[in-house]
Amino acid sequence: MTHYDVIVIGAGAAGLMCAIEAGKRGRSVLVLDHAEKAGKKILISGGGRCNFTNIHTEPGNYISENPCFAISALSRYTPYDFLAWVEKHHIEWEERNHGQLFCKDSAKQVVAMLLHECESAGVSFQLDCTVQTVSKNETSERKIFQLETDQGGFITDALVIATGSRSIPKMGATGFGHQLAGQFAIKTTGLRAGLVPFRLTGREQEKIKTLAGISLQVSAQCNGHCFTEQMLFTHRGISGPAMLQISSYWKEGDTILIDLLPGIDMTEWLARMREQRPKAALRTVLSELMPKRLVHYLCESLIEDEMLRRLSESQFKAIADALHQWRLKPAGTEGYRTAEVTVGGVDTDALSSKTMESKKVPGLYFIGEVVDVTGHLGGFNFQWAWASGYCAGQFV
Ligand SMILES: Cc1cc2nc3c(=O)[nH]c(=O)nc-3n(C[C@H](O)[C@H](O)[C@H](O)COP(=O)(O)OP(=O)(O)OC[C@H]3O[C@@H](n4cnc5c(N)ncnc54)[C@H](O)[C@@H]3O)c2cc1C
Repeated sequence: MTHYDVIVIGAGAAGLMCAIEAGKRGRSVLVLDHAEKAGKKILISGGGRCNFTNIHTEPGNYISENPCFAISALSRYTPYDFLAWVEKHHIEWEERNHGQLFCKDSAKQVVAMLLHECESAGVSFQLDCTVQTVSKNETSERKIFQLETDQGGFITDALVIATGSRSIPKMGATGFGHQLAGQFAIKTTGLRAGLVPFRLTGREQEKIKTLAGISLQVSAQCNGHCFTEQMLFTHRGISGPAMLQISSYWKEGDTILIDLLPGIDMTEWLARMREQRPKAALRTVLSELMPKRLVHYLCESLIEDEMLRRLSESQFKAIADALHQWRLKPAGTEGYRTAEVTVGGVDTDALSSKTMESKKVPGLYFIGEVVDVTGHLGGFNFQWAWASGYCAGQFV
């Protein structure tokens, strides 16, 4: 059996960060992954440009049963810490909307940077390696974990679980981390797909699919949360940043309230249009605010087209309500197949927020997406992966 001070299972964002930090402290570190190469999700992230952090990161950008858990790690490793690394490696970056930082060129640069740092810190890798069993030596004074893999046996004093979550199984995502938590009687909160498009079915889908390709700014509300961003109609339902964001709060059976014209007082706007162009049709004036195909759909299914001068105040009010509070009840989401994240994970009550170590199994750590901390869209998930990996790396 080969001994390492630290074994990290999962060569993703969190695992690589933890390995680098532990290696820098002089620990012998092995990173083990069943994939044939490290950082596969980083490579596909941000449309290939990796939205590696968000400068507006704050605890409010995360979903967790314990919203306070992430505060400590996020304040000890900030977006500016990661940015300093990016700059040290001469990776060109750009700021997009809402403080999102992306590589200007390619996500490959972020993986190359992490692997370079791993090499400098003396980190070893065992890729294409399947973990068969994990056990803990309960008799030893020291905290020793034994791993049986298809590439031999390993023992370690500190075992870090950085295996991510269930999103995109074809990228190598598994429920390994949650199963391992279960093996040590550590609870996992309810899991569901997050940052994921919605599916519609039946007549609603038939009607909506005629709108496929249309994108517009909306405010989407569900369960007390609201996001104002783009919405995209697809052949199967609705997507775009506004829908991905609200999907993380949506539960089966919920209705989404969509304001199709956020920031405009439609009752007042329509009254003004009636005064200026009394003979204009409602359909004509609405087409100045939103795509024609959408107006056509709305006039067929939601509101009545009419010459403006024939519309009463109460009809204006009804039209405004229909456009500001369009109610859609998705049949479901596209699930883990396309979800960017998994909401829920290893219960934070079971972990130290300072070290990420299990409270009841000393030497066992959980970091990154496997933990019940899920970020909004916009670089927050990587920031959590870096921050939690960094913190564990100081203690393993
Ligand atoms: C398409 C897509 C785009 C995204 N874009 C962004 C973005 O631009 N910005 C952002 O902040 N977030 C983005 N995310 C989310 C982000 O990728 C994740 O939150 C982040 O990668 C989580 O890091 P992690 O290290 O915890 O897990 P991962 O990066 O998923 O790494 C887990 C590693 O564990 C390995 N593993 C899993 N099971 C086993 C096992 N049984 N044995 C051995 N190894 C195993 C996997 O192969 C993988 O290498 C995106 C996600 C997707 C799917």
